[in-house]
Amino acid sequence: MENCIFCKIVKGEIPSNKIYEDENVLVFLDIAPVNLGHSLIVPKKHFANIYETPEETLAEMMKAAKKISKALKSELGADGINVTMNNDPAAGQIIFHSHIHVIPRLSGDGFPLWHGRRPYQEGEMNEVEKKIIGGL
Ligand code: 5GP
Ligand code: ZN
Repeated sequence: MENCIFCKIVKGEIPSNKIYEDENVLVFLDIAPVNLGHSLIVPKKHFANIYETPEETLAEMMKAAKKISKALKSELGADGINVTMNNDPAAGQIIFHSHIHVIPRLSGDGFPLWHGRRPYQEGEMNEVEKKIIGGL
C-alpha cells in the first residue's frame, strides 16, 4: 500500500524500534507512548482496520499481544496492560493500517478510560441487544 507509514515500517523503508516479528506480524514501539514500552502489533500485509483484517491474522496479532503483554509486565514492571484497537476516525484511528496497541499501565498513572459512561434507559438495553444480534 503506497504512502502507508506502517507498510513502510514493515518493509524497513522507515526506521522503527522493532521488538518482535514472525511470519505474519511485526511489533515495534509507538513513537509517542502513553507509557514507556507502548507497543504496536501490525500485520505484515496491509489491511485498513478490523473489518478488513482476516480472522486468522487477527488471531496472530492477539498471540503477539499476549507475548508482549507478559514481557511488559516482567521486564518493565507494568502493573497492568491495556490491549486496544482503534477503528475509524470516530474511534481515534489515525493510521489506517490495522494495529493493536499494547499499553503498559502503572498504578496511579492517571490516564482516564471511557469518560461519559451512562446507564441504559428503560427498554434500551434489550433493543440494542436485538439490533446487534441481527447483524451477526
Ligand atoms: P491510532 O490512533 O491510529 O490507533 O494509532 C496510531 C499510533 O501510531 C499512534 O499511537 C502514533 O503515536 C503511532 N505512530 C504514528 N506514526 C508513527 C511512526 O512513524 N512510528 C511509530 N513507531 N509510531 C507511529
Ligand atoms: Zn499499510
